[in-house]
Amino acid sequence: MIIAKDLKKFLNIINGNLVPASTGEYMDSIDPATGHVWGTIPCSTIQDAEEAVESAKAAFEKWSTMPASERAVYLRKIGDLITQHGEELSELETRDNGWVVRETKYGLIPSLASFWYDAAAGATEVGSKGNTVQLGPSGVGYTLREPLGVVVGILPWNAPLSTFTFKAAVALAAGNTVIIKPSELGSVSSLRFGELINEILPPGTLNVISGIGRDVGDILVSHQDVSKISVTGSGQTAKAIAQSTASNPKPMILELGGKSPNIVFADADLDKAAQGVTNGIFSGNAGQLCAAGSRILIQKPIYDEMIIKMKEVIAQTIKLGDPLNPESSMGPIANSTQYEKICAYIELGKDEGGETIIGGRYGGSVLLPEQPQFSDGYWVEPTLIHVNSNTLRICQEEIFGPVATVIPFDTEEEALAIANESSLGLVAGVWTTNLSRAHRMMRKLESGTVWVNTYFRIGPELPFGGTKGSGFGSDSILEYTREKTCYIDIG
Ligand code: NAD
Repeated sequence: MIIAKDLKKFLNIINGNLVPASTGEYMDSIDPATGHVWGTIPCSTIQDAEEAVESAKAAFEKWSTMPASERAVYLRKIGDLITQHGEELSELETRDNGWVVRETKYGLIPSLASFWYDAAAGATEVGSKGNTVQLGPSGVGYTLREPLGVVVGILPWNAPLSTFTFKAAVALAAGNTVIIKPSELGSVSSLRFGELINEILPPGTLNVISGIGRDVGDILVSHQDVSKISVTGSGQTAKAIAQSTASNPKPMILELGGKSPNIVFADADLDKAAQGVTNGIFSGNAGQLCAAGSRILIQKPIYDEMIIKMKEVIAQTIKLGDPLNPESSMGPIANSTQYEKICAYIELGKDEGGETIIGGRYGGSVLLPEQPQFSDGYWVEPTLIHVNSNTLRICQEEIFGPVATVIPFDTEEEALAIANESSLGLVAGVWTTNLSRAHRMMRKLESGTVWVNTYFRIGPELPFGGTKGSGFGSDSILEYTREKTCYIDIG
């Protein structure tokens, strides 16, 4: 394994201190563009997890009893801090998981700042307000909104800074203290962001520790002093967490995978639809988004025309290359395990009878032959596979990469049946100019979000969560509070 000369070392944040793992052990962080080690992160242990919980528990009294308006001041400062350190944070995210810098710098960072500002506003508007109820002449009742205690956020590798923000901003706004456990395959930006936040928040209010999920993650989620868990990850991890918390059940938010349909009807604005479905899968982080539109359904009369238009969009707008170069619009796969998995699915598609209509190649030396520094990196070409059946494994299993199946259909009923024929239900896209059809589809599609004539609209204004195997709950201030009922007899 080649190791970068400027190897960077990152530390945990526990109780206001920057600390290595208690054993002093580190894990490698690999730059997916080159396949070379560029940083190290702490390989935390049970002892580190225990210390993080202890520290968050000790900080809870002060943070939870602080007036919400004061907590809001802290959260606004974090929003400012993201912008001030936007360049550094976006480059860390890009270097560590390959998401192109032109999206991390200009799209991600401003949007994350808005989540912190929105959480600050919600701290006073939503997080601390209960209801009063008249109970006749001799009684009054009211509810108190209370924080839950120590909250653990478990992050995936594909979108570390976003998932960190979605969980921590609202949990802190509601008065909880927080432990963030980033993925062992993408911890760098979270450790650095935690270090920056640590300069603002009281010690112990926010802790960040890296480590292996089944070890340190498992200790955190099953800990008796942890009151709520929010997990973004795979269904397999959700099952493991449900099992390890079975003897000490606690509320959880599960934000899991997707196999989302993006449906184009013949009455759609085809130029807009071609742009939308293409961008819905060939994102700046190479389709490694839970909400990726990985099943593209096209009505038969416009099928050939749409394929031509999508090929044009890909040729004109997708530039695979160095994620740190602002000209690149799509980067590498974030890690070697995921790369191997995607390549295997491309081969499976051929075995299952799929016809590769665009792309299908992989490997740094194949795709970027003139840039030898990327020959060991994890590169996959934007790939579209035509299929005639939605029951194939490549249509049913989450590939999580720049690979979509394209399925022709005849009628609206058939499109709905294909779209809903999935164990997952995260998002769906519909492209149509028929308003009645749009409303019918929004009601009948089995997914947490339906986008019509747009895709990837995610923001603090509306909730984002899944149904079916894509999970339940969504990160919002109310989900991180409980409502206490109070009765007073005044007779
Ligand atoms: P993963 O399930 O492998 O890991 C997620 C996290 O869980 C990691 O931090 C890991 O260390 C931890 N973990 C693993 N085993 C654990 C255990 N037993 N106890 C506690 N923690 C444990 O998922 P991933 O590969 O990192 O992420 C990709 C998945 O996340 C995809 O399925 C993707 O669709 C999904 N995702 C969903 C959303 C959403 O909002 N719905 C957003 C992003 C990603």
